[in-house]
Amino acid sequence: MLHQLLVVRRCDPLALTNKLIIVSRSVLDGLVTALHIKLDHPSKHQLNLVLKRLFYALDMPKAVEQASDSCHTCASLKRLPKSLVKQSSEDQPDLVGISYVADVLKRKRQLTLVVRETVTSYTSTCFIQEERLAFKRSSVVVRVDPAPGFRPLCDDSFLKQLNISIEIGRVKNRNINPVADKAIAEFEDELLREERHQSPLSENTLVIATTRLNSRLRQIGLSSRELWTQRNQFTHEQVPISDINLIRAQHESRNKNHGFSEISKCSRPGRPIPDVSIGDMVYLYADRSKTQSRDRYLVGALDGEWCFIKKNSGNQLRASSYKVKLPECYKVINTINFHQNPRSSQNEYDQESDCDDYAECCKRNITVHVW
Ligand SMILES: [Zn+2]
Repeated sequence: MLHQLLVVRRCDPLALTNKLIIVSRSVLDGLVTALHIKLDHPSKHQLNLVLKRLFYALDMPKAVEQASDSCHTCASLKRLPKSLVKQSSEDQPDLVGISYVADVLKRKRQLTLVVRETVTSYTSTCFIQEERLAFKRSSVVVRVDPAPGFRPLCDDSFLKQLNISIEIGRVKNRNINPVADKAIAEFEDELLREERHQSPLSENTLVIATTRLNSRLRQIGLSSRELWTQRNQFTHEQVPISDINLIRAQHESRNKNHGFSEISKCSRPGRPIPDVSIGDMVYLYADRSKTQSRDRYLVGALDGEWCFIKKNSGNQLRASSYKVKLPECYKVINTINFHQNPRSSQNEYDQESDCDDYAECCKRNITVHVW
């Protein structure tokens, strides 16, 4: 006995004899959680070492694991191994010339707008003074990334008059605008071939690089220009191409390629689908960076494999909703068993009976209202 506490002697080799306070199971979870918070969220191993130095209890590592797993701060900082990410393509457009992607290439203090048609990969480029767009096509959808220059254009009345809609991809998707990224990469390759010395681009260089890019033969043996104009670029004869067959073939080849692409990027198995319901707090695997912990999100709606979440910062719930796939997020599981405490189970029983009464009352109320 020491200060009215039960103690046990601990004799480790090459260490001083220590007196450990015996902690009963009923207070262990509370003690471990208090220490976890007091010591500023140590890792499981660190907390285990602290507890082993001062206390003696049964199932101590299990209690530490529970305290760490149910902590929101630790969940937002958790380091997780890379794992297989399922890839998918959106529905293909019905026609050629109605779906475009756009991005701005910033290079040597010049801004170049790169616009690509998604089926034929026909690319147009031009210099711009600011990140502002002006398209002169009708009924087209232009996919862009959420860059500050593109965001205000979603509600642009001038673009609406021209039947042009700006679509910002899923913000929380890292591969938000893959066609535009590929277009920029190809265009930069052409620029490197054309202009080797470090100087600002001229209009001529831009035109030559774009023309070269459009005349490169692609997977199906035709160039973007030939697919766009349906004419042989050398002889100017008409090329018999069916747009719908081209769109279908492209979509099929993309879907076929996803499996190989997933495995080449990560051979680990995919992440489990979390059991998420509306109102849960979730974190996104991809959110963590070197300088920032993960943000917390509240699940607002569920739709098949999709989940609509809103950011919860402090006491505020942000208005903008993000669409993410379920395997991209995880939630903190409450591992403390509620039924362990006999008093809490009694409370639960009381609550249940209250709920039944309440439900009964509700039913009666509804009946009164209806009749
Ligand atoms: Zn913690």
